[in-house]
Amino acid sequence: MGVRIPNSELVKRVVFYTMKRRGMVHTQEELAELVQKELKKLNKNFSITPQRSRKIALQINNMEITVKTKKSKKSRPKKCPVCGNKLKSIYGKNLLDKRITVGFRCKICGYHANEKFFAPMKYEFKLLKR
Ligand SMILES: [Zn+2]
Repeated sequence: MGVRIPNSELVKRVVFYTMKRRGMVHTQEELAELVQKELKKLNKNFSITPQRSRKIALQINNMEITVKTKKSKKSRPKKCPVCGNKLKSIYGKNLLDKRITVGFRCKICGYHANEKFFAPMKYEFKLLKR
């Protein structure tokens, strides 16, 4: 029995349908589980990872994703830990009027953190109603 990877459009539709029914999902693992269950109704070999379902969920309009973070000793990430895009530095001035990096943000998904890197811990998904 092989594993089949569902295409993004299909996953997007399933994520949307799932979110419409649930309204809110508290972790990407939970989201993947729900999406997987729906996908298996279509093809029992369909498989999806939590990371992929999160990335596809990001592409849906009206989807609000909240990132719960925790302090980390790791240095700042090169890529956005949420969507994998490039991060932009946010500059500020210190007391001596020198330009310093105070944090960074992602233009794509809005993830941001201050210079003390906060690692994403938990993703919360919410479908906004128009
Ligand atoms: Zn991002």
